Amino acid sequence: MSDGAGGGEQAGGQGGRVVLVTGGNRGIGRACARALADRGDRVAVTYRSEPGPDDDLLAIRCDVTSDKDVDAAFAEVEERWGPVEVLVANAGITHDGLFVRMTEEAFTDVVDTNLVGAYRVARRATRSMLRARRGRMIFMSSVVGLLGSPGQANYAASKAGLVGLARSLARELGPKGITANVIAPGFIETGMTADLTDARRSQLVGAVPLARFAAPEEVASAVAFLASPEASYITGAVLPIDGGLGMGH
Ligand code: NAD
Repeated sequence: MSDGAGGGEQAGGQGGRVVLVTGGNRGIGRACARALADRGDRVAVTYRSEPGPDDDLLAIRCDVTSDKDVDAAFAEVEERWGPVEVLVANAGITHDGLFVRMTEEAFTDVVDTNLVGAYRVARRATRSMLRARRGRMIFMSSVVGLLGSPGQANYAASKAGLVGLARSLARELGPKGITANVIAPGFIETGMTADLTDARRSQLVGAVPLARFAAPEEVASAVAFLASPEASYITGAVLPIDGGLGMGH
C-alpha cells in the first residue's frame, strides 16, 4: 500500500527524498532543512540574498515573489536530483504597523511573499507530485494567523490564508496521494523575533503556558514528522508549535 512521499522507499543518502525548503538559509527554514538532511533526505534550500552555512544543502537563489525564480529553482533541483517530493513553504516576512497607517504596499508585499509565494511554489511542485501520485507539502503559518495580532493585519491575513490554501489542496490533491499540512509556530528564537525589546518579550512570554520562546529545532522536528512515513494519514492539519499559546484556536 502506498503511504505518500517516502512511504515505500528507504530514506538515506542517495535514496533519500528530494526536499525543497524555501527560505532555508537561516532561522526555522534552516533548522527544517537540517532536520531532514540529517535524516537522510537530499535537501535544497532557497535563499534571497545570503546562502546559508551548510555545505551539504543545495543552496539556490530564489525570490518567491518571482514566478521565474521559482520555476528556475525547481528546474535546478530536478536537473540535479529529480522532482521535489517534499516541499516546505517557509519563506516569510513581516512589515508591522498599525492598521490605520498601513499602506497598501505594506499589506500586499507581505501577502505576496507569505501567501502568494507559497502558492507559487506549491503550484510548481504539484505538477511532478501529481505525476508521481505522491508528495508532501508543509506550509509555515503562524499562531498569529489564528489569533490575530495588533499591528500585524498584513502578516496575520497572509498566515490565515495559508490555512485555506493548504486545506483546499488537502481536499483537491488527497485522492492523488499528496498531503498538505500547516505548522503554526508561536514565538521562536530567530532573526524575525530578535529585535523585540525585553519588555515586549516578557509580555509575550507571559502569555505562553510553557513560559519561553522555542528554538527553531523544536519547529523542525514537527516538520520532519509531517514529512515522514509515520505521518502518512495526516492531511489538512494545522499543528501548533507554540508552547500552548493558541490553545483552542
Ligand atoms: P527569518 O527572517 O530568519 O527567515 C525568513 C526566511 O524567509 C529567510 O530565509 C528569508 O531569506 C526568506 N525570505 C523572505 N522573503 C523571501 C522572498 N521574497 N523570497 C525568498 N525567500 C524569502 O525568520 P524565521 O523566524 O525563520 O521565519 C521562517 C518562517 O516562520 C516565516 O514564514 C515566518 O513567518 C514563520 N514564523 C516565524 C515565527 C517566529 O517567531 N520566528 C513564528 C511564527 C511563524
